[in-house]
Amino acid sequence: MSDVVELAQELIRRRSVTPDDAGCQALLAARLARAGFRCTALPFGEVENLWATHGGDGPVLVFLGHTDVVPSGPESAWASPPFEPVVRDGRLYGRGAADMKGSVAAMCVALEDFVARHAHHAGSVALLLTSDEEGIAEHGVRRVAQHFRESGQRIDWCVVGEPSSRERLGDLIRIGRRGSLTGTLRVRGVQGHVAYPEKARNPIHQAAPALAELAAMRWDAGNLAFPPTSFQISNLNAGTGADNVIPGTLQAVFNFRHGTASTPEELRARLESVLRRHGLDYQIDWRQSGTPFLTQDGPLRRAVCAVLQQQLGIKPELSTGGGTSDGRFIAPLGAEVVELGPLNASIHKVDEHIALDELERLPGLFSAIAERLLVTP
Ligand SMILES: [Zn+2]
Repeated sequence: MSDVVELAQELIRRRSVTPDDAGCQALLAARLARAGFRCTALPFGEVENLWATHGGDGPVLVFLGHTDVVPSGPESAWASPPFEPVVRDGRLYGRGAADMKGSVAAMCVALEDFVARHAHHAGSVALLLTSDEEGIAEHGVRRVAQHFRESGQRIDWCVVGEPSSRERLGDLIRIGRRGSLTGTLRVRGVQGHVAYPEKARNPIHQAAPALAELAAMRWDAGNLAFPPTSFQISNLNAGTGADNVIPGTLQAVFNFRHGTASTPEELRARLESVLRRHGLDYQIDWRQSGTPFLTQDGPLRRAVCAVLQQQLGIKPELSTGGGTSDGRFIAPLGAEVVELGPLNASIHKVDEHIALDELERLPGLFSAIAERLLVTP
């Protein structure tokens, strides 16, 4: 069995349910230290983060990943236990196989191989790992990026190994991500008896037409880089449970996924103008959990596309879709960020898996990207 498959299995065996690292980073740090990397633990709160770097002055290429996984759900629903990796029908099964212990193992093997062949490469190459990507992501890469900003650590290029591919390894890479803006809306009414509506004010009746208008709104048309902004109401609560009481309040939670065609300020202002026009007595708590970023055509994008063309014969789709990732914290440091990883069909599901031929291809892709950026021919 190849090195990358064995390492992925060792990682899956560690029950690192977010934000627990369960010894994954220590295992990887020991290997990378043997290969000549300087390894620094950057713990914040209960979260483990690892920064392993090799080289000196010049451009900095970082491979970014996470060692935590989402819970398995009922283990009895799995064909084999989620934390006991098994190979079946050419696939490696286990929680985290695709998201993203396979990629993390591949990055480690790629880096060992790269520095063994190019001890005197330009700039530096690094691995950054966190154990808080799947959870609230407060003390993970968000905090590490803040630390880097304060300590002056630059990052020029960042390859995120999140599972990006759709049907075939490398058919889609992410070159940006949308921003995420969440609002919690509280509408105040006046509670009363349903038989005496003139003595009450029903927040459901007041809010419903406003919410209907918001749900039907077209916020922008998107642009070349991003699809149109989407607006979704995710939670709606009102009522006491009794059928003869007009409730006193209504609460709704909604989320915008937006590109660069609208700013968060514009979206907030437009939404609130609708609420005011409907005469609502309301209050909103806003939370921006990520701002949009976009990596333009540059050295990193060109390197990734050239490697995929050369090794897999693929011209990848350049996408800004999907959810958020830790790339959102690295991009504001001025880094070009590209996400390239295995198929995402089974992530977070029962019987999560990665195809062995994909997993065994990944180290070669990652090390070839490093060669294009840090080795002058
Ligand atoms: Zn992930």
